[in-house]
Amino acid sequence: MSAISESNVDVLIVGSGPAGLMMATWMAKCGINARIVDKRGTKIFNGQADGLQCRTLEILDSLGIGHRAWREANHMLEICLWNPDENGVIRRSDRIPDTIPGISRFHQVVLHQGRIERFFLDAIAEASDIRVERGVMPSSLKIDESLVEDDAAYPITVTLRHLTEEEATPSQSSTSVNGQTVQDGLFRSNLAKDDTQDLLELSKLHGKANSEEIVHAKYLIGADGAHSWTRNQLGLKLEGDSTDYVWGVLDIVPITDFPDIRMRCAIHSANNGSVMIIPRENKLVRLYIQLTTTEKTGDTASRADRSKINPQVILESAQRIMAPYKITYRKLDWWTAYQIGQRVGTSFSAHERVFLAGDAVHTHSPKAGQGMNVSMQDTFNLGWKIASVVKGHAKRSLLKTYESERRGIAQELIAFDHKFSRLFSGRPAKDVMDAEGISMEEFKAAFLKGHMFASGIAVNYGASLLVAKAGSNEELGNGIDVSVADARDKVISDESLCRGITVGMRIPSHKVLNQADARPWHLQELLPSNGRWRIIVFSGNINDNEQRGKLERLARDFGAQDAFLRLYTPDGAKYDEVFEVLLIHNAPRTSVSIFDFPEVFRPHDEVDGWDYNKIYVDDASYHEGFGNIYEALGIPHSGCIVIVRPDQYPNTDVSQAFEMTKNEMTKSAASHIQSTQAKGGKDMSSSG
Ligand code: FAD
Repeated sequence: MSAISESNVDVLIVGSGPAGLMMATWMAKCGINARIVDKRGTKIFNGQADGLQCRTLEILDSLGIGHRAWREANHMLEICLWNPDENGVIRRSDRIPDTIPGISRFHQVVLHQGRIERFFLDAIAEASDIRVERGVMPSSLKIDESLVEDDAAYPITVTLRHLTEEEATPSQSSTSVNGQTVQDGLFRSNLAKDDTQDLLELSKLHGKANSEEIVHAKYLIGADGAHSWTRNQLGLKLEGDSTDYVWGVLDIVPITDFPDIRMRCAIHSANNGSVMIIPRENKLVRLYIQLTTTEKTGDTASRADRSKINPQVILESAQRIMAPYKITYRKLDWWTAYQIGQRVGTSFSAHERVFLAGDAVHTHSPKAGQGMNVSMQDTFNLGWKIASVVKGHAKRSLLKTYESERRGIAQELIAFDHKFSRLFSGRPAKDVMDAEGISMEEFKAAFLKGHMFASGIAVNYGASLLVAKAGSNEELGNGIDVSVADARDKVISDESLCRGITVGMRIPSHKVLNQADARPWHLQELLPSNGRWRIIVFSGNINDNEQRGKLERLARDFGAQDAFLRLYTPDGAKYDEVFEVLLIHNAPRTSVSIFDFPEVFRPHDEVDGWDYNKIYVDDASYHEGFGNIYEALGIPHSGCIVIVRPDQYPNTDVSQAFEMTKNEMTKSAASHIQSTQAKGGKDMSSSG
């Protein structure tokens, strides 16, 4: 065996599913020294998760890949609810919009996970040298606890084992349809015994493959799926329901007389169970059927007999549920059966050095199309925080907010899924006296309520050192040792200055025009995910003397030598590398030019000249209407300032999060930070 090599890396990611790839994308965009490994020899090519909720699309758009998903995906516009009538025959009982109209500039779409992984891989390659190292898996993990508080240290030691191609391609059962072999998802399914241990054992047998290396890392991300090796190494558990459901999934091009096959449908039959229909890209349709429920025996969940589940069994279930309509297929793209419980990790991190994300810390049914979404949103929350800490821009305590923000979401998800799965899978009540049956009114109400949650837009992070909620006296949970009262001393959060923005929720988007060239942009498009904080100055009408006076005072503050913009921007870095100042005014566009605004709002570079992409106006566009952002966000004539963190969540107290690395920082600078970074709704009149 050759000598074992040793190396250092700032961030090591285990697992290249949606959660791992989202993390790697942040690392690439923020220029962090990172590696990502996966035990599989290839990415996935079809099947598995497929739903993309509107918040996920906003996020993908901020990473520059949303348009690819939007274009390729099937768009989901309406849901049809089918229930048995008084004769027990299924009938369409309702139509509801698939995404609540107006909550986002996107609506739900479906595209299989393999395509989303492709978009990430391309984005990572475009921004960095990071590549997924396939056929590589960790075999040991040590954390040197004496070093975990040392920012410069590499307290994590991981041994990585390189597998042979054969080992990295686990044997997979397949199905033959019309003479064509169809890949199934069983080899990834948790119906099968996890193959991590087998792969490790196998690799020992191959001299060539038995190569190892030692990696010292500052941070380790376990995005290694429901069987997470990383979670097991940390001795952390998933807690939750003792019931495991088995789902059959069939991706087919259906041949059917069912009229709503191109709509998302929830069909409850009188006595044969339920099916969820998801119309997909390329004429595909996905059928989800809950096949069985297995009860836990002792400490081990009993495993369903997968040999009894095959495409024919799933199809026959669908045929029974959808009768008298007929459904069959000639083309089968993918199928699987997988077993899941509704569980959440007891902890999402060890020492804020090792983090778990995605299926590694929450599992639930596929019903609400949440798996891939919530997994990606975990690392979307974590990535910029780790990048800020690694770059020395933020204190390590910032990392505690990952668990405090994401574990709550996972718990809400599990509670929602718990309720929804039972309502979905139960038998419809025959009448009001049928206590064992499910009331279809209750199902519809839960469906509608679940919509907002499922969209991802409803995420409302609690008070923390990153989220300064007005009027809250709650202590921060999960070990954050700063009380909201402390945070409030430092910020003046006043949502009444922009009622359309809720502290802790992602900033809504409305159209504004670029002052220099009149091009309309959605506000969120101005906030790409590149690790920068944004200070959005809503200056009001700068033709008004009072507003102009305030703007000039603010410009003096921002431009001062000891202002936070200079203090926190590293020497030699571009003026907007850490904080980007954007200005949105509401004077008539043609009554002013960018030169009517102080220079700090249109910075200048000797080589590139004026920056034309910092000043925007709330005015009508030629071709895309009028965004009316002041009215939509409830911003008064006196204007306000909104602080937005790098993941588009507004109204945060930056002064808490940012490392005061510069000892020379003066009291006056601190007061600048407090007054200018104060709030989502800071009245501009107090800025001077
Ligand atoms: P995963 O996508 O599971 O990615 C984990 C990655 O880590 C994998 O690439 C794996 O190879 C790698 N890995 C694991 N262990 C190691 C190790 N020790 N070393 C190195 N690498 C490792 N969701 C839906 O919404 N609808 C569906 O129909 C649906 N079907 C599914 C079918 C199957 C068979 C499975 C397994 C999942 C399905 N899901 C579905 C769930 C959905 O795919 C997940 O919620 C989502 O992929 C979670 O993303 P993730 O990145 O956390 O984990």
